[in-house]
Amino acid sequence: MHPAFRHDSSRVMHFHTSRTDRTYYLRTFGCQMNEHDSERISGLMQGLGYAQADTPDEGDVLLYNTCSIREKADTRLIGHLGHARRLKADDPQRLVVVAGCLAQSRQAEFFQEHPYVDVLVGPQSLHLLPALLEERAVTGRQVGAFEESTSTWSAELPRVRRSGPLAWIQIMTGCSNFCSYCIVPYVRGPEASRPLGHIVDEATELATQGVREVTLLGQNVNAYGLELGVRGVSTFPGLLEALSEVSGLERIRFMTSHPKDVSPALIDAMAGLPSVCEHLHLPVQSGSDRVLRLMERRYDRAGYLDLVDRLRAAAPGLALTTDLIIGFPSETEHDFDETVGLVEAVRFDGAFTFQYSPRSRTAAAELPGRVDPVTLEARMRRLVETTQRLGAERNAQLVGSCVEVLVEGCSRRDADTMMGRTRTHKVVNFRAAHPVEPGDLVEVTIQSSSSTSLTGVSESPAVPGSRAGTTTRPTTRSPSPEAL
Ligand code: SF4
Repeated sequence: MHPAFRHDSSRVMHFHTSRTDRTYYLRTFGCQMNEHDSERISGLMQGLGYAQADTPDEGDVLLYNTCSIREKADTRLIGHLGHARRLKADDPQRLVVVAGCLAQSRQAEFFQEHPYVDVLVGPQSLHLLPALLEERAVTGRQVGAFEESTSTWSAELPRVRRSGPLAWIQIMTGCSNFCSYCIVPYVRGPEASRPLGHIVDEATELATQGVREVTLLGQNVNAYGLELGVRGVSTFPGLLEALSEVSGLERIRFMTSHPKDVSPALIDAMAGLPSVCEHLHLPVQSGSDRVLRLMERRYDRAGYLDLVDRLRAAAPGLALTTDLIIGFPSETEHDFDETVGLVEAVRFDGAFTFQYSPRSRTAAAELPGRVDPVTLEARMRRLVETTQRLGAERNAQLVGSCVEVLVEGCSRRDADTMMGRTRTHKVVNFRAAHPVEPGDLVEVTIQSSSSTSLTGVSESPAVPGSRAGTTTRPTTRSPSPEAL
């Protein structure tokens, strides 16, 4: 860290005023972990008396919670910062704050490139945001905080949560895996597990607020409790067991899972705990053993396929989704064919496909053999066609079946159509013969499907906040999500 930009805690004063006429604008980039951190940023800003603005033009403080996983996210941010720069030129009292992974990875260099940015705050330093804003107000100079591991869990900060029956709960931070292409371990620090009691307390509180489904967040949730010398935590299956006792919590999801850390105990927990949903996001990244070795993923193709078999044997109806990277340095046509072959063999329910993006400090950025853009484009097209076709086939198998849907609200396209998700995380748009509310569980008969969603009708009355009828597992005719 550049010493000029280290946050000086001795200068922390009291920025906590009732400035209800002041507003903040917050834009979030990247993964669910960033979305969740933004709930905490909103909690901190509203604790300072700021109200949220819908557009940057209306904001006194402009906050950008950033992602540095891929170059594309950097490029998108620069466009938004250009607008922030113009707004600040019109009103120099406006403050521009850049939070998140990009702030952490670039630090002093980012300030030099963007002199109109007032505050930088890394993902492990969000609790210092009020103090940084005050320090900026008092000193008038650029300030930043870049803690490298957790001293205060952002999950313990005040929160402004999107309303509704769904919520995120952070259970871990950081990652110690150092996959060769990934910047996360450099910007979010080593794995650290949040105490089990805190997680259960948060889940209990959310359930009393009407939350029916939680998604447990971490870069590698399967490693929960495995770092050496930690106290007050359990293993991940133990955590799932504890959360399944929380009254009112109907569904538990989690992401992301590293294949090397999916233990037999986790498979048993997924098969045996009724509230744990039949969906696993299991990033495979490549189907080529040679590329998997270069990626330093620490599993091979055969091991991944064996894991899929064991998961499906234990939890029939399990939906599997994945992440795939194409164009990793030196990827050959044969390597790519291996990836397509693995996708065909597993028949994923869905996949996020990414072009390899070199990130400075990572080992892969130094590897030779960049794949040319024309080849990249052709491979991407073929992979997307394959994943969409398989997704469509998997969804088509559900037509005629009856599935449990947790209602999230109205469909975006039609106010008379409701929208929710199955336990397998599939989007269902449906017409209801009875009134339904967000948070209800309903049984929906599926009438049609596409590669990304299902359409159906619900004839029976909703069961507010409890399981729909007797269907607690998916009633499908045949078997049915990495880097944050
Ligand atoms: S890809 Fe996932 S497991 Fe690998 S280093 Fe990045 S966050 Fe960790």
